[in-house]
Amino acid sequence: MITRLSHLFLRTLRDDPADAEVPSHKLLVRAGYVRRIAPGVYSWLPLGLRTLRKVEDVVRAEMNAIGAQEISLPALLPREPYESTNRWTEYGDALFRLKDRKGQDYLLGPTHEELFALTVKGEYNSYKDLPVTLYQIQTKYRDEGRPRAGILRGREFVMKDSYSFDLDEDGLKKSYNAHREAYQKIFDRLGVKYVIVAATSGAMGGSASEEFLADSPVGEDTYVICRESGYAANVEAVVTAAPPEIPIEGQADAVAHDTPNTPTIATLVEWANGAGVLGREVTAADTLKNVMVKLRHPDGKTEILGVGIPGDREVDDKRLGASVEPAEVELLDEADFKANPFLVKGYIGPKALQANGIRYLVDPRVVTGSAWITGADEPGKHYVGLVAGRDFTPDGTIEAAEVRDGDPSPDGRGVLEAARGIEIGHIFQLGQKYTDAFEVDVLGENGKPVRLTMGSYGVGVSRMVAVLAEQMHDEKGLRWPREVAPFDVHVVIANKDEGARAGAEQVAAELDAMGLEVLLDDRTASPGVKFKDAELLGMPYVVVVGRGWADGKIELRDRFAGTAEELPAETAVADVVAKIRG
Ligand code: ATP
Ligand code: MG
Repeated sequence: MITRLSHLFLRTLRDDPADAEVPSHKLLVRAGYVRRIAPGVYSWLPLGLRTLRKVEDVVRAEMNAIGAQEISLPALLPREPYESTNRWTEYGDALFRLKDRKGQDYLLGPTHEELFALTVKGEYNSYKDLPVTLYQIQTKYRDEGRPRAGILRGREFVMKDSYSFDLDEDGLKKSYNAHREAYQKIFDRLGVKYVIVAATSGAMGGSASEEFLADSPVGEDTYVICRESGYAANVEAVVTAAPPEIPIEGQADAVAHDTPNTPTIATLVEWANGAGVLGREVTAADTLKNVMVKLRHPDGKTEILGVGIPGDREVDDKRLGASVEPAEVELLDEADFKANPFLVKGYIGPKALQANGIRYLVDPRVVTGSAWITGADEPGKHYVGLVAGRDFTPDGTIEAAEVRDGDPSPDGRGVLEAARGIEIGHIFQLGQKYTDAFEVDVLGENGKPVRLTMGSYGVGVSRMVAVLAEQMHDEKGLRWPREVAPFDVHVVIANKDEGARAGAEQVAAELDAMGLEVLLDDRTASPGVKFKDAELLGMPYVVVVGRGWADGKIELRDRFAGTAEELPAETAVADVVAKIRG
């Protein structure tokens, strides 16, 4: 069926919406793909919905190909399952909560681990039933603190979420790898440029979780990439390459110096250079900065922790947070300093921390034998030559220091560079967190119950529409790869002349008969307006039937290549079909 622009429910806009900052948001609104209803809540108009459905189709096909089975759970959910896993509380303000007429608590599902675990528990009871992977393509709700960039970060959005259930670790790894490969196929088919990054430092065992990040300067996720080796990781997951240990023997004794008015690294370095304490130029990297944080553990107990990092680096809050999880990081307040008088602001050193039983973790660069200029725990005093492993012994290392461009890659094969991306997928070996919460067991081969192990995997389906728009647009408008374009070809009638009109109708009908999805611009608008709209709407191919028709010619424009070629009318349809089908 040919879709006629004269009938299509579409109004393109000349101006960018006032609230739009990123190109995909501006263009999707201007081209009439989506319309805003509330912050982070959007309607899909015909063109947008066609693209969304096509993204869904690709995702669905690849999920089916790994044997995952599609089901559909409600978005409106009772509180109890989320209470059992504590997520009713943990989700905090991000959860949309509501009450029914009887006063019962409900929520709008942000993700469905609980319900899938319960669904499997409800149906299956024997090891013979396993493994199983279930998925849905469904609307999710999260009351995001900063809904942003239109459908890129919505409060209502479409996600494909799947959940694997296995009898053992090995099975979970297989399910995880199947998803990893399926995701690569999905994103390759969609033509999106992306990297796979380790999401956690591996403390939980290898690649327990990975994220798929689409390259984009407007992305909110920062990651690092090593161009030489291809290593990529979330900033939180970067493992610092530690330098080799240094022999302690023969190193000079530590000396405490009077260093009046040197509470900052800059003032300390200035003093050290003025005093010539190292017999060479001192930099901030020669100093050891001791940052105090308060950890709140899940049981509610608090702990004061000392973090030692080279003075030329800042603490990266996200890395620190990921390293101490599940504890939460808080700042020390005046009361904490009062209660711990050995913490001398600006002059905190490892010695007082250790003498007072404060846990002290250091950056991996603080290796045994490394010598530091650091606080001597008295106002206006610092040590020079305080040697790790001799004068103080840290309780361990911590990944809390910022990662910088030019840092060595953890794989030893180049340097790191910071990059930005948009999370389009996430795969996660959950293990037994949810199956424990709901006691999801089946009868094992030996007659004993087996607790299932679970994975969860998400793709941002509606977000993908924005990501593709973001990566593929140009200054004229949207550009869609054929896989997701609302239509394969956009036929423009670029002349009032009856012959050209009839010719365009004929070309459109023949393209349609060849199985292509055809959008026909049969409006009475001027050719200039029509061409501008064609560029804005972004179908991959535009066929222009205009002045040349009388001479037996049509024009084929390739939206991606930006090229135009004249084709003889007799063979035009066959040529266009051949070109589009590649
Ligand atoms: P983000 O870090 O971007 O908030 P997330 O870690 O919360 O994402 P998951 O819970 O792993 O996301 O959800 C799976 C996928 O759903 C994500 O990879 C992303 O593509 C998509 N997604 C998550 N939140 C949103 C949102 N607010 N709007 C649109 N898509 C989203
Ligand atoms: Mg995630």
